[in-house]
Amino acid sequence: MEAVAPSKEIIDVIKENGGDAFTLCYQCGMCDTVCPWNRVRTFSMRKLIRQATFGLTEIENEEMWLCTTCGKCPQQCPRGVKIIECGVSLRRIATEFGVFPASVKPVRLAAESLVRNGNPLNEEREKRADWANDLSVKTFTEGMEILYFPGCYLSYDPRLKKVAAATVNILNKARVNFGILGAKEVCCGESIRKTGDEDLFKRLARNNIKTFIEHGVKKILVSSPHCYQTFKNEYPEFRVNFEVVHISQFLAELIREGRLEPNKESGKKVTYHDPCYLGRHNGIYDEPREALAKIPGLELNEMPESRANSFCCGGGGGRIWMETPRRERFSDVRLRQAMDVGAEVLVTSCPYCISNFEASRETLGVVENIEIKDVTEIISASL
Ligand code: SF4
Ligand code: SF4
Repeated sequence: MEAVAPSKEIIDVIKENGGDAFTLCYQCGMCDTVCPWNRVRTFSMRKLIRQATFGLTEIENEEMWLCTTCGKCPQQCPRGVKIIECGVSLRRIATEFGVFPASVKPVRLAAESLVRNGNPLNEEREKRADWANDLSVKTFTEGMEILYFPGCYLSYDPRLKKVAAATVNILNKARVNFGILGAKEVCCGESIRKTGDEDLFKRLARNNIKTFIEHGVKKILVSSPHCYQTFKNEYPEFRVNFEVVHISQFLAELIREGRLEPNKESGKKVTYHDPCYLGRHNGIYDEPREALAKIPGLELNEMPESRANSFCCGGGGGRIWMETPRRERFSDVRLRQAMDVGAEVLVTSCPYCISNFEASRETLGVVENIEIKDVTEIISASL
């Protein structure tokens, strides 16, 4: 295969796209040692970096689309290479050239839907608040305690609508004065940005920011760690700062303040999976565990790979939209790890993790052995 352009030129393009940290790499290979891909197939981020450093990147190469941006290798890299940003910069170049391997084509469909409908799921914009139809949820107005932003998957996906409903039950029980923006909210843009579509990310971000400002939003409650990451760490690039709270943090806070009291006995053996964008990317490890520990009778057993060492579900970096062969699904590995510690319930707090684990539960034929729950579903059932 040919490189896209002579070496000097591609190095400049990479730098323009935010990947200049490539030059720091001294090829030690630590990134490959910890990368979850090497548990299911071979993959070398080190090699991609080497090729890019010498301007030998092949933009039709499927490998540049593998990284789930899980955050494991940057925390190990002795040279402080911004590995995720480097990988995304290669995807930006491929996106500019419009070169997408077959397994990546669904990303373009997601992008088209984001432009047309404000969500990646090809669902109608006007139906974004339908999940709340029977739940008497108010529309957000200025002066309310908090805006609840469920995000795309909780708004449309039948499995994940149950998480939105559990969240509403919790907020009502704790007498939180909250509202939603329904059809006025659009995708946060986190995942499409990681696929290299910077223009679309900016368009979505500006749309949400304008809506938040027009409605006097100060504090935003999110269910997805991907929305959390974007609102908290990426929207400030647009010179705005909203207070952003993930539901797992809010649960712990409501319980601490005595506004919420889980008192129904559980008797379940559970394990908790740290989503990459809640844990490694944002350091939120204790709050979901703190909330779970308050449920009477619940037994929490940790998996060996937990907290900063958590094993990725495979859904980040836009991979949630891409094809992954069955033998290469990280979520299968993780589900087996959960069952190995005797868990009857795998609890997590991210819509991508839940989608991937539910799919693995089916394909591994273990529907009777283990349940998948969001932390809100477990708490809601204990109230
Ligand atoms: S760990 Fe860092 S220095 Fe080592 S090969 Fe990977 S990117 Fe390069
Ligand atoms: S961020 Fe995660 S998936 Fe991506 S190369 Fe590093 S370890 Fe692998």
